[in-house]
Amino acid sequence: MVDSARELSTSPESTTVVVIGAGPAGLTVANLLRRSGVDCVVLERQTREYVAQRQRAGIVETRAVRMFDSWGLADSVLGGVPHEGILEIRVDGEPHLVSDNDGSHGPTARLCPQQMLVQKLTATYLADGGDLRFEAADVSLHDLTGERPTVRYRAPDGSLRAITCAFVAGCDGDHGISRTAVPEGALTPYAFDHGIGWLTVLADAPPPAHPLLAVSPQGFAAHFPRGPYTSRYYLQCPPDDHPDAWSDARVWDALRTRLGDPALVCGPITDREIFRLRSLVHDPMRYGRLFLVGDAAHIVSPMGGKGMNLALYDADLFARAVRDSVHDRDDTALRTYSERCLRRVWNDQELSHWMTRMLHDAGDATHCGPFQRGLARARLDRLFTSPTAARAFAELMTGMDLTGDAGAPSPTPR
Ligand SMILES: Cc1cc2nc3c(=O)[nH]c(=O)nc-3n(C[C@H](O)[C@H](O)[C@H](O)COP(=O)(O)OP(=O)(O)OC[C@H]3O[C@@H](n4cnc5c(N)ncnc54)[C@H](O)[C@@H]3O)c2cc1C
Repeated sequence: MVDSARELSTSPESTTVVVIGAGPAGLTVANLLRRSGVDCVVLERQTREYVAQRQRAGIVETRAVRMFDSWGLADSVLGGVPHEGILEIRVDGEPHLVSDNDGSHGPTARLCPQQMLVQKLTATYLADGGDLRFEAADVSLHDLTGERPTVRYRAPDGSLRAITCAFVAGCDGDHGISRTAVPEGALTPYAFDHGIGWLTVLADAPPPAHPLLAVSPQGFAAHFPRGPYTSRYYLQCPPDDHPDAWSDARVWDALRTRLGDPALVCGPITDREIFRLRSLVHDPMRYGRLFLVGDAAHIVSPMGGKGMNLALYDADLFARAVRDSVHDRDDTALRTYSERCLRRVWNDQELSHWMTRMLHDAGDATHCGPFQRGLARARLDRLFTSPTAARAFAELMTGMDLTGDAGAPSPTPR
């Protein structure tokens, strides 16, 4: 830890916002602030190459696409192809196509792998003259409740640096330092563990025709596009299972069985890991002049594909709130930031929870029993047969569902 101002090699710099972390949240905050004429510095612990290769999410939802569009950034930061708005849910090998397009006018979701979004956000920010510092070690936050917080870090040449600012954006994910800088008891954590594990595998193999979720007596499985010849697969497993227990042959056998596709084309596996399906919300998402953005504030289990999209939502609200404060001396949006973000966070947690239970309980019922299995099958049946249920599902998937907050109001970049 950098713990002494006397070690500083230079006098502190000054900026309006220090952004900790260059993931989707931090880079979006930085780009939107830049568009608003608000100066900021981004500090990222890893190298540019490392950050640019981290593969996770695959779809930027409709609401987030329209958010970037409203800032005039959609063309520069969103690669990929439009997502045609169809999701396949396969039950015991039988396909059901459901729409995740709500039919509203305007740009729709994009198949845009997270690493592509990060690469384009980085390039756009730097081309715009943005200040982004990789390999910033030992970042620490000070005086968060004062008028001018200070952020200290160690530069790649070993020198100690300090930056004073008006606001700190904690965008450093679930394992970052921002949240740990908040005194014990100031934030309330709400956590849930589904008791379910997922083996996730990335492979050079053809993507599915549509994002595919599969229910089977052997357990849940999924197949998602991550590029023209790249796929991500998920297999339900015990949460304390080990990736070494899953040989390539076992992975492909399980996928063929659970997806109900004996002809599934396999390919070299480039990454595999196991994680628990868990959810976490911190309330409030603010402490003094520190604002938590994205995974630093909340984790949503991956079912429903909301984690990255929530990070983009927080980033948009935070950037607009800072713009109002700096340019109009209006702190209303900063004061309501946490409350507004949390409304959507809980909304998306509910979608993710509902889908997680439905798609796991309907399959291998050993963890939940036959009664829960019957309920889960009834929910699936309703989704496949009721136009009203299907419409509600599509709205939730697009992110256009919260009345009074659907899509970003058109900002006025300065
Ligand atoms: C396997 C997997 C699949 C997923 N699939 C989906 C999906 O399909 N759809 C979806 O929407 N979401 C998905 N997610 C979730 C999504 O990846 C996250 O919600 C998203 O990355 C959050 O972005 P973020 O910027 O808040 O945090 P992160 O992406 O975690 O970025 C945080 C950044 O902060 C940096 N950092 C950390 N500590 C420090 C420090 N001390 N100092 C400076 N920098 C620091 C990190 O290096 C990193 O660059 C998935 C996640 C996983 C793990």
